Amino acid sequence: MFEKSPAKIWRNRDVVYRLKYTYCRRCGKSFYPPRARCVYCGSQDIEYRYSSGRGVLKEYTIVYQVPKGFGEQSPLVIGLVELDEGFRVVSQIVDVELDKIRVGMRVEAVLRRMFVDGPTGLIQYGLKFTPLPQ
Ligand code: ZN
Repeated sequence: MFEKSPAKIWRNRDVVYRLKYTYCRRCGKSFYPPRARCVYCGSQDIEYRYSSGRGVLKEYTIVYQVPKGFGEQSPLVIGLVELDEGFRVVSQIVDVELDKIRVGMRVEAVLRRMFVDGPTGLIQYGLKFTPLPQ
């Protein structure tokens, strides 16, 4: 998620911004990031799909000591989200009050600024998750 070159960001845009994932026709499992071969059964009978971006918060942690470049976002809430299509991603949870976070809450992917790359001033965007009306 933290690719720095604009060319790489462009190449990966469907994966990063649209949650492109892989569905395996043989075993029926979905996984992310997408690959040409199923990570569960090894089959190459796969297809690429796009997630709805909606899912459930399965676990989370609150990070008070944040990496350089994320300072203004402290504390960070990092969550394990299970998408409705059956795969999981680790992502930042935003727009949530710390005492309102709970496992099992419905969340939705939103495109947000990740950080500004110092030397180039390149603003990095990526998906984060925000609570849906519960
Ligand atoms: Zn499979």
